[in-house]
This record gives sequence, structure tokens and C-alpha cells, in this order.
Amino acid sequence: MKEEDIRPKKNMLEEKRLRAEDIKHLMERKNEFVKIPCPACESDENRFKFSKEGFNFNECAKCSTLFINPRPTRDMLSEYYTASKSIKYWNDNIFPASENTRREQIFVPRAKKVIELCKKFGVTTDTIVDIGAGFGTFMEEINKLNVFKRAVVIEPSPDLAETCRRKGLEVIESTIEDAKLSGANVITNFELIEHLFWPKDFLFACSKILSKGGVFILTTPNIKGFDLLTLGELSDNIEGPNHLNYFHPDSLSRLLEVCGFEVVEVLTPGKLDAEIVREKILAGKLDISKSPFLRNTLIDQWETKGEIFQCFLAENNLSSHLWIVTRKV
Ligand SMILES: [Zn+2]
Repeated sequence: MKEEDIRPKKNMLEEKRLRAEDIKHLMERKNEFVKIPCPACESDENRFKFSKEGFNFNECAKCSTLFINPRPTRDMLSEYYTASKSIKYWNDNIFPASENTRREQIFVPRAKKVIELCKKFGVTTDTIVDIGAGFGTFMEEINKLNVFKRAVVIEPSPDLAETCRRKGLEVIESTIEDAKLSGANVITNFELIEHLFWPKDFLFACSKILSKGGVFILTTPNIKGFDLLTLGELSDNIEGPNHLNYFHPDSLSRLLEVCGFEVVEVLTPGKLDAEIVREKILAGKLDISKSPFLRNTLIDQWETKGEIFQCFLAENNLSSHLWIVTRKV
């Protein structure tokens, strides 16, 4: 998989323009942003790390989680998600145009991986719930595998919920906090908690609808992964207000434990870290004059070492794409 396949450069230029407009609009109310403690360990001690597009990214002094602080309020965020032109552009253009690639490269393997994990942990396969289902592509692939008796998607955005309904999926158009549901055997959510004002509330709500022994699987960026750690603020993934929280395996595991989950597996099956850093080097955006190892691995020996290096990162929990599998205690 290449980054260009899922984020075509020509679309991304337009998306960038619209995002700048969205942010300008939000920054007009910057004086209303609120300070929060660390979203992972709730410590009040955090220090300024860098500022990007007007957002301050602070690092928790206790657990090294990176997070936007101060941040837009819950209401401002929900308004942003309703009115954002850049998000609408993703939903109207980028996602549909790249859906086939995303299906093959992301959702088919993702569905297989989830089923594999369910088998590994011997979970009952009556009901699976996917939260923040987007286009519903993941759940379509789950249904094709014919393992679960009931598959439900929870999607608060009216447009996306409608897309899921048209695909014949069972949809609850709501947030998880308001969804009337219980007894789920498996809950999944992909790249969601980094967007949330206060992830702990969301995790508690998930814990409530999960049955005892049920499996809760989530993915999110790993701030201690290779490309995020190497690029820092240069990373395109570091973007407010879409991404507010950047956990790592330890900080997220601790938060999950507080919310009643037992962590049973931590994985970083990322495929793009090395390529993303390489692209930044080739574009002249990352100075590697003092990093001969990066030049050697990602430029000079790319053809023979690039893939091996990426595999090493993925296999040793050093990639920026984090999966955590937990069970309800
Ligand atoms: Zn912390």
C-alpha cells in the first residue's frame, strides 16, 4: 500500500485549503478553548511541546501522552464536525474515490484480523458493534465472513449513517453514550479516540454495552511509533482539531484498565511509517544531516532495506499504527 493510494496528492491540496478555512473559523473563538488534565492519566502536569496551526500540543509530564491543550470545548467540536468543509470533502470525495483501494488494502485485512482475534480469545460471536463506522466498509466485510449473527454500526453523522443504511447495515444513528444497546460480544472502533474531547467517558460507555468477557478492539496513532516520533510536528497526522489525543501502548493500556478492561494484546501492524518519513526527507522537509542512519536506511538502501525495516517496526511495537485488544473484566 502506498500513501498516494489512500490520500491522493491532488485531493489533499484541496482538503488542505478547506481545512485552513475550518481552522480559521475555530481560531476566532480560541479564547473559549478549555484546559484539561492528561486524557490518559489525568495528571495536571503537562509541558508545552510545540504549536501547529494555532493549536498547542502539550506532553504529559507523568505518562508522555501528547494532547492539544487548551482545546475546543465539546460543543465547539460537535459544531466543527457538523459544519467542517474539509470533513465533508473527505466524505464526498476522498473516501468514495479511494474506497476500493481502502477496501482491499485496509478493510478486508482488518475484518480478517478481527475474526482471527475473536477466535484466538474464544469470544462468543452473537453480536459485533462497530462505533464510528463511517462508510460501513468494515462491517460489510465482516458480514461477508458470516461469523456473527448480528452486526450493528453506531454512527452519529446523519450522512454517513444514511450511507451505511443504503448498504443494508443495521444502523444506530447516535453517539455511543446515547445508543440503547447492551450485551455486545465484540466492540470495535478504528481511529476514533484520538478525536474525542474526553476519551475516558467514551471508554466507560463502551464498557457498559459490552458483555462480560467480551472483547473490545481499538486502533489509534502511537505517539511513540517511528514516524510520529521522528517527524513530531512535521507529521501530517499531527493535526488539530481532528486529532486531540496521542496515546502510546503504556498510557492507553493504563486508561483502559481504569475503565474496566484487561489488555490482552498490543500490536502495531503499520505499513507506512518508513515510507512517510522517506517522503518527508525527499521533499526536503526533514533535515537528516545529523541522522546518517536514516539516510542510509530510508534513502541509500531503500530498495533493499525499506521493507525489512518497516517489518521490524511493525513486529516490535514500534510502528505508529496501534491496535489494542482488551477484555471486559
Ligand atoms: Zn498522563
